[in-house]
Amino acid sequence: MISVVPAEVRTLISAVAVIIVAGCSTPVPPGPPNPATFPRTRPELTSYRETSRYRDVRSFLDSLRTLRAPLTFGSIGKTNEGREIPYVIASRPLVSTPSAARALGRPIVYVQGNIHAGEVEGKDALLALVRDLAFAEKPNALDSIVLIAVPIYNADGNERFASQSVNRTEQNGPELVGIRANAQNLDLNRDYVKAEAPETRASLAMFNTWDPDVFVDLHTTNGSYHGYALTYSPSLNPAAVFGGVYARDSLLPVLRQRMRIRHGFETFDYGNFISDERNGVDTTVREGWATYDPRPRFGTDYYGIRGRIGILSEAYSHDPLERRIASTYAFTREILSLVGEREAAIRSLSARADSQPLGWGPSPDSLRTVSIRSQLTKTPLMLDVIKEDLEKTGDSSITQPGVPRGLRRTGRFAPVRMPVYDRFTSTLDRAAPAAYVVAPGDTAAVTLLRLHGIRVDRSDTAWSARGEAFVIDSIITAQRPFQGHREVRLKGRWERGLQTMLPKSFIVSTAQPRGALIVYLLEPESDDGFTTWNLFDSRLQKGGRFPVRRILDLSRRGRGAAIRRSSASSLRELQN
Ligand SMILES: [Zn+2]
Repeated sequence: MISVVPAEVRTLISAVAVIIVAGCSTPVPPGPPNPATFPRTRPELTSYRETSRYRDVRSFLDSLRTLRAPLTFGSIGKTNEGREIPYVIASRPLVSTPSAARALGRPIVYVQGNIHAGEVEGKDALLALVRDLAFAEKPNALDSIVLIAVPIYNADGNERFASQSVNRTEQNGPELVGIRANAQNLDLNRDYVKAEAPETRASLAMFNTWDPDVFVDLHTTNGSYHGYALTYSPSLNPAAVFGGVYARDSLLPVLRQRMRIRHGFETFDYGNFISDERNGVDTTVREGWATYDPRPRFGTDYYGIRGRIGILSEAYSHDPLERRIASTYAFTREILSLVGEREAAIRSLSARADSQPLGWGPSPDSLRTVSIRSQLTKTPLMLDVIKEDLEKTGDSSITQPGVPRGLRRTGRFAPVRMPVYDRFTSTLDRAAPAAYVVAPGDTAAVTLLRLHGIRVDRSDTAWSARGEAFVIDSIITAQRPFQGHREVRLKGRWERGLQTMLPKSFIVSTAQPRGALIVYLLEPESDDGFTTWNLFDSRLQKGGRFPVRRILDLSRRGRGAAIRRSSASSLRELQN
């Protein structure tokens, strides 16, 4: 599916494409584009021995532009080292602004490659897919969706090329790949709540302005020897009540079937064999298959709590690059087609997710709850999972890149019936208040809320209202640093009573889209909120009150309590 060019003419095309890759000033051939003039990705040009460098991605996109491909080109922002992070928009008719995209009334799908820059095939598959869809003459997904493709999200990490044996120890090539982290040594797929990396801030800005209905994050697996070309996951967080459940029960089973029937690829829910996990989820379980983590620090989990669909794609690290590109290409293409077919259902899902919290502000007593902590299900399904046998070589030889010394793959695959832990259940639900009130001094938290696309107002005068304050009984700080933080967990209790707010307090009404995200970020007991990432550390004291309070009824706020809507100027003032 990736190459539409017969092998015999590929040598000639490679020669042409090398010229295109080398410089973007190639003259435009007359007439409509034909496959012989399509640009080729770095893997296509090197028989899948190499992945794209940053300059290859830029040149590839430049050649699409030179060929007048019907695409909109832009940058989501700059990396830490100042590289532009390119995006491409593809749709028929073509759009270039969020309002034009919305006017089409179609789902918007945001596909991101390369967040872990050693996991390279998402980047290269996405470039090929954009090219093939844009130049296709027959109708395709671009007639029913708007695609935003971000092929090289972690561009700085991509440029830290080193041997796969150093940068991606469990991967079957290519020989040279980038690293997992960005230039600040931050894992971008742990940064979606705290948003410390410029890359994360740029992607949040894209989420806020384009408001995609679907977010797809392309990765490569790290661990188990299984029989799947690709594994996938919906948003796992129980707070992802809209997109999480819909993707899990309605989209992914269909995608699995299509991958098998149309492409010959076996796929399954993302996970690892519990026997392979050093920090197993449950030490009493010897054999089983378990998914990963539901917290919103992970992009697709985060995206589900925004009330949208998040899909994680994990190509099999022990497959060679060509097959990983092919499976990622096929999976992404099938997602775009299926979202196009389900156009109306997906748009209505997004609308319902946005309108549900609107009732929370005026009638908080309706007690709509949001899950803020969860655990792996205790009732796994019993299913067949395909396993590959490995055998000992009898010496310390390396048999294949990514396979540990002294072991070799056998190619013997067999289904084994075992418990499959593919979901999480809530262990703590909290009712959404009408609003949260943030103290005047907590401007860092307010700035971060706004980065998440949350509206924050400000009251000029003092006021009081019925509400709740959280009394801190204990502060549990992680022993080990993680991503430059010592994560904090609070225990305590809510006390109801009249809350008096200082002038210049910030008011975060939950009656707005992303209401569930507001609750997740601000609740003191959340397992991945602002408290976790030390935003309130200086304000926390055992026996003291948590600095964010819940207001149960905004309508009784005293007269004269003027509320100012947030504006760009007040945001700038806060960032100083
Ligand atoms: Zn990854």
